[in-house]
This record gives sequence, structure tokens and C-alpha cells, in this order.
Amino acid sequence: MNAPYERLEQLEQEALAALESAMDSGALQEWHRLYLGRKGELTSLLRLVAELPEDERPTFGRAANTLKATLESAYEQRVETVRRQELERELARGALDVTLPGRPLGPGHLHLTTQTLRRIYAIFAEMGFQVYEAPDVETDEFNFELLNMPPHHPARDMWDTFWITDKVLLRTHTSPGQIRVMRERYPEPIRVILPGKCYRYEQITARSEHQFYQVEGLAVGHGIRMSDLIGTLTEFARRLYGPDRRIRIRGSYFPFTEPSVEADMDCILCRGAGCRVCKYSGWLEIAGAGMVHPQVLRNGGYDPDEWSGFAFGMGVERPAMLQYSIDDIRLFYGNDLRFLRQF
Ligand SMILES: [Zn+2]
Repeated sequence: MNAPYERLEQLEQEALAALESAMDSGALQEWHRLYLGRKGELTSLLRLVAELPEDERPTFGRAANTLKATLESAYEQRVETVRRQELERELARGALDVTLPGRPLGPGHLHLTTQTLRRIYAIFAEMGFQVYEAPDVETDEFNFELLNMPPHHPARDMWDTFWITDKVLLRTHTSPGQIRVMRERYPEPIRVILPGKCYRYEQITARSEHQFYQVEGLAVGHGIRMSDLIGTLTEFARRLYGPDRRIRIRGSYFPFTEPSVEADMDCILCRGAGCRVCKYSGWLEIAGAGMVHPQVLRNGGYDPDEWSGFAFGMGVERPAMLQYSIDDIRLFYGNDLRFLRQF
């Protein structure tokens, strides 16, 4: 046995031993460079062929190539083993558990305000009211003037306004929709609710947001009376809050209704006995309302000598706050999912 053959055998033992102790992919790369690379041990051994007697060269060449194949296949196997071990270590550390099912993306659900709006829609739909949607961006004319508030009318101070230009604004209430629906439907009788966002340039507190929902109601027809308004609000309160609710009507003032009233309902928490929520009065305000002012009917195209109507406006967040004892309106639009997911 001459030196090159011995060297081949030595190399095989040495290389296979080194391969066994390569524990990660970095060590494997280094091993490959050392034994099978272009400047590796096997390549330099193959160069020794030239020093051998000519008749031994083919035998040595075959032996060297066999070794090369042996080392390559041992290397491939080792790579697989090390990869598996590396993955197992990762899994053991908990960094990656490929067997876990993916995190499901929930389908989401309706916002509390939307749920409340839909309950209100359903109740009024049963009473024959259609939903009419009016724009959020309004003109001074529709938001104020046509509702009996000419420029400098003191009642304008009831609503702090987000102005966009001198004559364009974000509606401060849903009432401008009354004019829009009357002008569109004349000479049909009208029974609609007008839901939507309203905007007020106000300090945000637990009880007031600068953006909130209202549902406006409007009925115009022949011979509509105050008793129809009271009956409608009573029926609404009983369907939303329970069949034994009582309604109380107080005189009030709005420029676009005459007479104007506020409708209160006996407190659902203390049933009229008085508590913190109703400020110990036993009553909760549920709507501002009244008979449509003759001038407003006229502005909508309806002759007040032939037509009459009632209108009301109510909050949407407030019923939800009462129902779920929510004491801060800011929670509705703070986008905190911990709050929203409860409903
Ligand atoms: Zn109460």
C-alpha cells in the first residue's frame, strides 16, 4: 500500500468523523469547503495521480472518485439530519410551532351604534316610516335659513358649527333633511326617518362628542296632530324599552317647530323613583319634537293651510348608553376593540 492510497483511507476516516461532529449549517459549509471544495483535501489528493506509475493511475482515480461519491452522499445525509435537529431546537424554544393552526381572522360584527340604529329602523319601519338619507355636508341655507334661522338669528347659537366655507358646513342636526325630503316628495304625504351623523364644534367630554348620531322623524299629511306625535313617540319608547313605559311632554323651543316640545320617558333604571342617571327627576329625555312650523312646510313646498306635520329628533348613542350602563360617550368612537367586542 503506497502513500496516496493510505492518504485516501485516512482522508475518508477523518472526513467522516469531522462530518459527524458538524452540528449546524455553518459547520457543514466549512466541512464542505475543507474536504470537497475546489481547494479541498480530495482535490489536492487527485493531483497526486500524476506522481503514480501510469498503470496504477486508473485504479487510484476510481478509488478517489468512489471516495468523493461516498463523502458527497454522507454530506447530503448529514445536511438533512442537521436541518431536522435545528428545526427541533427551534420548536423546543417555542419560536415556531408549524403544527399550530393559523390564527383565525374573525368576521367582525356590527358596531354598537349600528346595532342601535337597526333596532330603531325596525321599530319605525313597523310603523310605516321609510329611511331617507340626507347629506352630511350642508349649506347654511338648508341647515339654518330654511329652518327659520336667518343669519344672526339667536337660535343659531344653539349649535356650534364646523364651517367649511362661508356658506357650507357640516350639518349640526339632521333637520335639514326635512326640507330635502319635502321638496323631493311633494305633493305626496311623508312618513320618514332621517338617520345620520351630526357635527358640533364642541368640547369633547364624557357626555358630548363633536360627532354623534341622530334619528330625525318627519310626518307630513292632512290633519296630522300633536296627538299623533305623542302616540308615535310613546309607541316607539314602548317597543324599544318595554311595554309599560310612560311618556311626558314638556313645552320647549325650536325655531322649526310650533309648538315645540321635549319628550321624556320614565327612567328605565329607577322606574321613576329617582336615581343618579335621571338626576333624581325620575325622567329621561328621549326626543326634541314638535309640529312642523308653517314656514318650514312652506319652504318644503307644502301649503300649511292644507298640510300639517310633526317632526322629532333623538340621539342614538344615548339609548345604547342607558341599555348597557355606558357612562362615557367617547368609548363609542375611540376604536378600542376591548370595548366594542362586548356588544
Ligand atoms: Zn332614574
